Amino acid sequence: MAEGQSQEDPKLQVEAAGKAFEQEFERFVRFTGDAVAETSLSLREGESEQRALAEVRTRHFGKKSALAACKKAIGRVSPDERAAFGQLVQQIESNLSQKIEQAEQTLNRLVESARTQRESIDVTIPGRHPRRGHLHPITLVRERIEDIFVTLGYAIEDGREIETDFYNFDALNIPQSHPARAPQDTFYTTDGFALRSQTSTVQIHAMQRRGAPVRMIAPGRVFRRDTPDPTHNPMFFQVEGLCVDRGISMAHLKGTVAEFLRRMFGPNTVTRFRPSYFPFTEPSAEFDFSCFKCGGSGCRICKNSGWIELGGSGMVHPNVLLAAGVDPNEFSGFAFGFGIDRMCGLMYSLDDIRLLFENDLRFLEQFE
Ligand SMILES: [Zn+2]
Repeated sequence: MAEGQSQEDPKLQVEAAGKAFEQEFERFVRFTGDAVAETSLSLREGESEQRALAEVRTRHFGKKSALAACKKAIGRVSPDERAAFGQLVQQIESNLSQKIEQAEQTLNRLVESARTQRESIDVTIPGRHPRRGHLHPITLVRERIEDIFVTLGYAIEDGREIETDFYNFDALNIPQSHPARAPQDTFYTTDGFALRSQTSTVQIHAMQRRGAPVRMIAPGRVFRRDTPDPTHNPMFFQVEGLCVDRGISMAHLKGTVAEFLRRMFGPNTVTRFRPSYFPFTEPSAEFDFSCFKCGGSGCRICKNSGWIELGGSGMVHPNVLLAAGVDPNEFSGFAFGFGIDRMCGLMYSLDDIRLLFENDLRFLEQFE
């Protein structure tokens, strides 16, 4: 201790230390004694008071505090006054520490209860329901189609949406400059790729990968350079079906398509095949089914014809089998395809298939 300080009356020093404490402690008095029961604090206030009180403790009880200096001074007090001085220091120290401990305990309790209150759950408040999404109408129809074909023993194939000329045209018996390329004009990239214009591409991939026999359907997106109108969209969904095995005939094709349509639209559904032309099948046929709404007597949906045109089909052309590495002398097969959007539009009586792709919740929520 410095020379000058030692000459001061240590008794006055310890009393001054006690007074300085009392002054700073004044704001915490409400956390001691009888007033405590009525005190309540928010969690934030409580935590800030805890920090302030911890600072007071450090300032008055820490190593550099006036009280610590007084305790060191005990040894330097003359022997006859030492006992009385020591007692005084002890008394003041225990008095102060008692107060500060009491305030600390009260504050801890208040903060704890504020914390519990904040975290408690009011079970009487109605819960917040997260909005549940639902499947898109095209997905609903696609899944129904898939379910039916899976039970008929078909695998579901996933195809790529970007294709080479080979898979989109050549392998499907549509060589360069063949007129069948025109109505299937699609979107090309600069390096020889194109967005597939039909899911028939998956036939080739599936046969190349699995060989024959094979039974699969491939639902997916296809693209054409069409101007959007109520029945056209440059992007739409198709499902392609392929069955290749020994001895497959047109009868298998007709039976499969008819059975699918009965399961899709009801047991009384009648299927009709009309001769047609597709480069990748020979012979080829388009198929219609009796209107599910009027049963064939004529209505708005079937445009009073009683029939609904759905898709194309036929026996897989030997050139297609060859392109996919399957021997047409050993195997034969049938293929068919139709639009999922079109089927969806029919089933839900949509006036405009573009509604399916506009992401308008007022429309989509009807399918929940
Ligand atoms: Zn009808």
